[in-house]
Amino acid sequence: LLFDLNNFAEVNDRFGRAMADALLVEVAARLRRSTRESDGIARLEGGEFAIIATRDIRPDQIRSLAKQIIEAMRAPFLIEGREIYWRASIGIALAPTDGLDANQLLRCVDTALYRAKTLGARSIQFFSASDDEAAARRRALERDLSSALANDQLWLAFQPFLDLGNDRIRGFEALLRWQHPTLGPIPPSEFIPIAEETGLIHSIGHWVVKTACLAAARWPRDLRVSVNLSVLQLKNKTLLDGIVVALAEAGLEPRRLEVEITETVLISNFEETISFLQSLVSLSVTVALDDFGTGYSSLTYLRKLPLSRLKIDRSFVQDMLTDADCAAIVRSLVELAHELRIEVTAEGVETPEQLDYLRCVRCDEAQGYLIGKPLRIGEIPGIAAE
Ligand code: C2E
Ligand code: CA
Ligand code: CA
Ligand code: CA
Repeated sequence: LLFDLNNFAEVNDRFGRAMADALLVEVAARLRRSTRESDGIARLEGGEFAIIATRDIRPDQIRSLAKQIIEAMRAPFLIEGREIYWRASIGIALAPTDGLDANQLLRCVDTALYRAKTLGARSIQFFSASDDEAAARRRALERDLSSALANDQLWLAFQPFLDLGNDRIRGFEALLRWQHPTLGPIPPSEFIPIAEETGLIHSIGHWVVKTACLAAARWPRDLRVSVNLSVLQLKNKTLLDGIVVALAEAGLEPRRLEVEITETVLISNFEETISFLQSLVSLSVTVALDDFGTGYSSLTYLRKLPLSRLKIDRSFVQDMLTDADCAAIVRSLVELAHELRIEVTAEGVETPEQLDYLRCVRCDEAQGYLIGKPLRIGEIPGIAAE
């Protein structure tokens, strides 16, 4: 079994090495308690542990061992007076079915763990042959992404924001697209994580900012352009300069550029992130908090970050007409944001009824398939292609 503490890197980043090490010791102790004496336990890297159960057991028994481990980790870890909640997943490979030697088994279990992680915390996955295909695809994507920029395979789709005050388009969000020559379109949810792991996110992210600014400079009126920035991009010291240069070269007024960050960005290095965002704001670039309501939404963010906008996640918009609690959350979020002089954009609006409700609660902007799908800039009526 391969056990991975998915949020180990976050803990390390946020609370430092000593605390992360103390957490590992605690995790190891709990693993020891939920396994047998004869089972081997080894820490591999980061928050990853291998558990080698050398008994003769059936898959259902090994699954219940995995469940037992997950159960044992349920209570928060108390370290240096802090409560740390774990997020962990488990991958499983079996000998002799999946392999006979340690290398082969490790490769399989790693692949199974990878799939478990994409399914979220507490998931348990057995290796299966189709994982091999998935792993092969991932390797191919990793290999090809490095040349995708140079080969003109990346492009930006633009999705409009509707101003609910005057029913006019207020701007567009740039969404990255990858057209792979043989595998076809690859969704960003698949290739952005690869770009992050390989470090390609920096050059790609810079290209996104540059291309979005160039496009926006040609738009009529003073339409806004929003770009998404991921966690790792904010750690790069050259990002700010890249943005300044991109604006200057495009001749775009900085106030027309907005950056969207998600809450996961904020988990690590809060102070540094704040100061980065403040530098942007001092240039007149605005900041939006994306996917609000998912993850670790904290009111501290609303108070401490120099935000112009909050984007309510699609999941709330989807459920707000059928779930009264959801409707109350959307209504109250708009009210709260307005009190703090923050505008609100609702994401994922797909029906006229949702739009009506958003108008009713005085939400500022709407985005979603009802208003417009992400399109090539040349395909958007009224907006000229380069
Ligand atoms: P996001 O920023 O939350 O973007 C919104 C996603 O929801 C987009 O998916 C968009 O196509 C989709 N969407 C918009 N309206 C609707 C709707 O009415 N219904 C439904 N079902 N979906 C809708 P997409 O383009 O696949 O992007 C996924 C995520 O990838 C984005 O989520 C963003 O986090 C990330 N991403 C996209 N482009 C970039 C980029 O240039 N840089 C970085 N770092 N991340 C990016
Ligand atoms: Ca976004
Ligand atoms: Ca979003
Ligand atoms: Ca999202």
